[in-house]
Amino acid sequence: MKAHDGMYIGGEWRSAAGQDTIAVVNPVDEQVIAHVPAGTAEDVDSAVHAARAALPAWSATPPAERAAKLTALRDHLVARKDEIAATISAELGAPPAFAQAVHTGLPIAIAGSYAELAASYAFEEKIGNSTVYQEPVGVVGAITPWNYPLHQIVNKVAPALAAGCTVVLKPAEDTPLTAQLFAEVAHEARLPAGVFNLVTGLGPVAGRALAEHEGVDLVSFTGSTAVGKTIGATAGAAVKRVALELGGKSANVILPSADLAKAVGVGVANVMGNSGQTCSAWTRMLVHADQYDEAVELASAAAAKYTVGDRVGPLVNAKQLARVRGYIEKGVQEGARIVAGGPEAPLERGYYVTPTVFADVTPEMTIAQEEIFGPVVSIIKYVDEDDALRIANGTVYGLAGGVWAADDAEAVAFARRMDTGQVDINGGRFNPLAPFGGYKQSGVGRELGVHGLTEYLQTKSLQF
Ligand code: NAD
Repeated sequence: MKAHDGMYIGGEWRSAAGQDTIAVVNPVDEQVIAHVPAGTAEDVDSAVHAARAALPAWSATPPAERAAKLTALRDHLVARKDEIAATISAELGAPPAFAQAVHTGLPIAIAGSYAELAASYAFEEKIGNSTVYQEPVGVVGAITPWNYPLHQIVNKVAPALAAGCTVVLKPAEDTPLTAQLFAEVAHEARLPAGVFNLVTGLGPVAGRALAEHEGVDLVSFTGSTAVGKTIGATAGAAVKRVALELGGKSANVILPSADLAKAVGVGVANVMGNSGQTCSAWTRMLVHADQYDEAVELASAAAAKYTVGDRVGPLVNAKQLARVRGYIEKGVQEGARIVAGGPEAPLERGYYVTPTVFADVTPEMTIAQEEIFGPVVSIIKYVDEDDALRIANGTVYGLAGGVWAADDAEAVAFARRMDTGQVDINGGRFNPLAPFGGYKQSGVGRELGVHGLTEYLQTKSLQF
C-alpha cells in the first residue's frame, strides 16, 4: 500500500514536523503494510492556520459553486472506488464485497447527497421584517474512527464543505491510508488550498491538539463515549460547538405478533456486518418469553452460517480482539449461555472472532449494558411490552434499534416510546438522508441529510 510521509496541508503534501510514524497493520494476516507520519501539535497548528486562511474565500463562495466542487469530489471518489475498497480491505480487513458495496458505495452516495443539498438548501429566509442567514460555523476539527473509514470522513467533511466551513481531519490511527486517499481525491477535485487538510496521528496527541485548538470553531467527533466526554468537556469550557457520535447498545425488539424467523435472521445479520464493529448494531435481541427458545435456536443456526474469512472479516486490531474476547468470557462468568461461537480463536492468524450468540442474558449483565464492538448478539427475554420497553431503554445509550410486529402501526407505537435516535420498522432499510445520531450518551447532534448540514451552520438575523 502506498502511503504518504507527510501531511496534506494548504493544498499540498508537507513534511511532518516530527519523525515518528504509525505502523498500519492488515488485520487479516497481521502484517505491517505501511507507515504514516504521527502528527504533533505543530502539524495540527499548521493545518488549522491553513484552514483559517482558506475560510473567508470558501465561506463566500456561492453555494452552487461549492456544490460543483462536491460533485467533482464525488466523481473522483467514483473514479478511484476500486482502490478505495482495496485500501479499506487492507487496513480494516473488510471482506471485498462489503468493502465495495458499503464502505465505498455508501460514502459516494452521501458525497452526492451533499452536492445536491449545497445547491438546493435555503441558506437565506425571510421572517417578518428580518432576513435570516445560515452562515458557516467556521473551521471544523473532524476526528474520526476506524470502523467505517471513508463513511465517517465523508459524513463530516461533505456537509462541512457544503455549509461553507473549512476542515482539518484527524482520522483513526488504524485506518489512515483511506484518509490519505481521500485527501488525494480532494486535491484532484481541485478544492481550493486549505479548504480540506489532513493530519494523521495518535488520538491523545494529534486528536487532542485539534480538539483543544483555539482556531477550531466546531469539533465533530465519532468514536468511544469515553473520549467523547473529554472532547465535550473541552469544547464546553471553550464555548465551542461540538458534535458527538458515540457508542450504542441498540435493541432489536421482536414483538409477539412478528414474523419471528425473519426478525431473528435480519437481527443476526445486522450484528455480523462489519464484524460487529458498527455503533448502531442491534446487539441486544429482545424476545417474548413464549418465543424465547425458538428464537435462540433460530439465532444460533443463523450465526453458524456466518463463517469467518470471506463472509465475516477480522476485528481491526489486537486490542479490539482482546477486548471482545474479554467480553465473551465475562458473559460466561456472569451466567449467560453461549449457543453459537465463543472466545476461542477460529483461525491461526488474523484478529478473528467467531460470530457469537448468547442466550439467558439478563438486562443488568455487562454484555447487555456495554458496547462490545464485535460479532456478539445477546438474546434477552421479556414478559410483556412494558418489560420490553424498560429493557430496551435500560442502558446509557440510545443510538438505533429495530422493532418487529405483524403490522407497522403496532411497531411504530412501540418505537415512539424508545429513547433512541433511529428505529427500523420491520426491517426498514438504511436511509442515507435520514438524521443519524444519539439520544442519551450516544451523542449530541445529527449526521446525514439536511440535519447533518445544519450542524455546520450558525444563524444571523438582519432586521429591516
Ligand atoms: P477512540 O474513541 O479512542 O478513537 C476514535 C478517534 O478519536 C480516533 O481518531 C482517535 O485517534 C481519536 N482520539 C482518541 N483519543 C483522543 C483524545 N484524547 N482526544 C482527541 N481524539 C482522540 O475509539 P477506539 O479506541 O478506536 O475504539 C474503542 C471503542 O470505541 C470501540 O470498542 C467502540 O466501542 C467505540 N467506537 C465507537 C465508534 C462509533 O462509530 N460510535 C467507532 C469506533 C469505536
